[in-house]
Amino acid sequence: MLHEIIDKYYLDKEKGKNRSKVQNHFYVSQTGKCPRHLFFKFKNVPEKELEPHMLRLFDHGDHMHQLIMSALTSTRDIHVVASEVKIPPQELISGRADAVISDGNQLYVLDIKSMNSMIFKSLTEPKPENIWQIQLYLYYFRIPKGILLYVNKDNLQLKEFIFDYDPDQAKKLLADLKFLKNQIDTNIVPKRLESYPNNWECRYCQYKSVCDIGAQGEMKWDDFKTQVQWVNSSEE
Ligand code: SF4
Repeated sequence: MLHEIIDKYYLDKEKGKNRSKVQNHFYVSQTGKCPRHLFFKFKNVPEKELEPHMLRLFDHGDHMHQLIMSALTSTRDIHVVASEVKIPPQELISGRADAVISDGNQLYVLDIKSMNSMIFKSLTEPKPENIWQIQLYLYYFRIPKGILLYVNKDNLQLKEFIFDYDPDQAKKLLADLKFLKNQIDTNIVPKRLESYPNNWECRYCQYKSVCDIGAQGEMKWDDFKTQVQWVNSSEE
């Protein structure tokens, strides 16, 4: 009984979120994501529904963040200058860093990521997509250092990586996003990931069945969408 009630709660909550969310700019958290996936998102292609247990896992990740932030705001050894810090509003991208902290000498942008034991154990260096996200925060906040703090959801162990702002990397990331925005605006479906379908992103992709229908390379959206019978009728 409770199982069904709780599952329904999560599924309804997710449906409500998706209904009110038409994407017209990128989010920092999407940096490094498959361009074709993002294209489908902007075009409002219906996603495969996530399993309720996955939605609970996301919630669990939020609780991990709160737990870490509660420790950081309670200690005197570090100063939390601001939490949930939004980047300045502009058209291309929006995002919210977990915190800006200070050790008394230096400001850092902090991003907290939680994961299961298996991924946590294999982590000897930060994931590239996590570095890219924090590089964008460093660019927008003009802060020279970032910290990625990884939390093992299963046993609450921590790993941290500190690194410097890399202006060339930030510039490239923004150029890639502008290129993709242009593809979206001109209705060019980006090519699949090189390692499709074995890439982990493809394995969990909510657009996999749509992507499967198409070709490996770029496609014209106007032609492709006719093959996708359930493309949302609200799409232009
Ligand atoms: S299945 Fe893979 S290549 Fe296709 S949209 Fe999803 S992540 Fe991208």
